[in-house]
Amino acid sequence: MKCIICIGGVHEKVVEYKEFGVSLGKFPAKVCVSCGEEFFESETVDKIQAKSKEKWLFGLAAKRTKVALVGNSLAVRIPKEIAEFVGLHKEEEIRVVPRSQHEIVLEIG
Ligand SMILES: [Zn+2]
Repeated sequence: MKCIICIGGVHEKVVEYKEFGVSLGKFPAKVCVSCGEEFFESETVDKIQAKSKEKWLFGLAAKRTKVALVGNSLAVRIPKEIAEFVGLHKEEEIRVVPRSQHEIVLEIG
């Protein structure tokens, strides 16, 4: 097999697969010796996807939260796991950006 990006040679290697900076574990891959691109067998891709699903379902899944009234404003509780994941702390200033009538994005930093 040759790298499909730069046609360089590849070697087998166990690599750590990260998603949003979070490790999903180590998986066998073919890694290009020139550009470093990683290629996975389809059954490995299935395993990675299963791991990813697991993480999202049990760790960082979209969580339900209730809107509370604080003074004249509405407050949304951000689940601990999500706050830790994005490194959000109490008193930190963030931007609240409405994207549509169904979506609000919180911009951090
Ligand atoms: Zn390459």
